[in-house]
Amino acid sequence: MAQRIAKQDFSEWYNSIIYKTEMVDQSPTRGCAVIRPYGYALWEAIQKEVDTQIKKVGVQNAYFPLLIPESFLKKEAEHIEGFAPELAVVTHGGGKELEEPYVVRPTSETIIYDSFSRWIKSYRDLPLKINQWANVIRWEMRSRPFLRTTEFLWQEGHTAHAGKEEALIFAKQILEIYRQLAEDFLAIPVITSEKTANERFPGAETTLTFEGLMQDGRALQMGTSHLLALSFPASFDVKFQDEAGAMQTPWCTSWAVTTRLIGAIVMVHGDTRGLVMPPKIAPIQVVIVPIGKVEQQPAVQAQAETIKADLEKAGIRVHIDNREERPGAKFFHWEERGVPLRIELGARDMESQQVVMVDRLADENAKQTVPWATLTQTVIDQLASLHTRLFDRAAQFRQDHWFKAETLADIAAKIEDAPGIYQTGWCGKTDCELELKTVKASVRCLWKTPEHKNCFACGAASTGDILVAKSY
Ligand SMILES: [Zn+2]
Repeated sequence: MAQRIAKQDFSEWYNSIIYKTEMVDQSPTRGCAVIRPYGYALWEAIQKEVDTQIKKVGVQNAYFPLLIPESFLKKEAEHIEGFAPELAVVTHGGGKELEEPYVVRPTSETIIYDSFSRWIKSYRDLPLKINQWANVIRWEMRSRPFLRTTEFLWQEGHTAHAGKEEALIFAKQILEIYRQLAEDFLAIPVITSEKTANERFPGAETTLTFEGLMQDGRALQMGTSHLLALSFPASFDVKFQDEAGAMQTPWCTSWAVTTRLIGAIVMVHGDTRGLVMPPKIAPIQVVIVPIGKVEQQPAVQAQAETIKADLEKAGIRVHIDNREERPGAKFFHWEERGVPLRIELGARDMESQQVVMVDRLADENAKQTVPWATLTQTVIDQLASLHTRLFDRAAQFRQDHWFKAETLADIAAKIEDAPGIYQTGWCGKTDCELELKTVKASVRCLWKTPEHKNCFACGAASTGDILVAKSY
């Protein structure tokens, strides 16, 4: 029987399963990882889904240079202060020392606003909605594949709007697209809310976040959507003439999701038997394992091909495993890779015109026979049911690990043994927020339904509840 991963084994389990299942490989470049096809397929699926949804709200893709003049980053004081420790800088090119070094993009606001300053002249040019699919570099001392690597893949959206309210509405619209991606596509329940000033993106006025809870009780920031302060576009001279003829600075948003989402899939759904792929994103949704030797059973082989073709017609991703291995070894192989459904087909099934079907969340022995005639529909239903069961299981886990605390001492007494989300009151002061460092936790976000009267740290009147957790 598959079990959830115990929190003391979690880190080791994670590091082992992503290599064993060939999602990643080691890289000679420190802090980086090679993403192998089984891992990259997940990124391609995320890309496709996000790209479709952002285009529906008028976003267009473009591409900007990887290397950014160092002076650009220095134009916005908070931005450079936030990113300086993580920057990689190119000082030589073509065998010569450069007059001005280039920074390898840690994010592209600065170089994109340089373009915006030429593209935006009038209110008629707004809103402008641009997205870039790219890699970025943020120097990491302690890396872990997908979760934190020096180089990672992402999309970064950048928009400019005539009014603040419109920009904020758009930032929220993107957050909703991200919520749907997490919940409806990856089967990961998420909390959507706002970051505190201390946790904001450098240069942002508002940072919206969506956070998931991993199986070890740590929160993971899965993506963010920001409303930037006016000083940001202003420092790049981005301005437009409004309808009355006056010059104004547009309000800008930026938003991103990264390959970190792959880590979330592994950490939320996996179990002691290995990965569990949410059906909608699974690179292989159904694996067919013919029982017996391929060459001795042409009829079984032909039927497996027929089933595959039928399922593919219904848009299902299918793989037939014809390797020279024992069936048990094949079952184990695909279970470990988290394939949602397995179909077994042998000589006996030819007479009865049925298959044996096993779903990834079922007990090893829970086999179901399904007639060929109704197989496609059964597979469709079973994949939908698996998505729901995975989501519900993760939602239940979050509910079971959501605690209420009155004081820092309450949190300190529990959080090591019972990591999870701690809801508490807060006076709004950064000094109090920073007290959480003593328990190696942080404010993940503000919480909309206040239940606490006092600040967890200073005891003054609370201005609203916050959610506190240890995080990645
Ligand atoms: Zn306080």
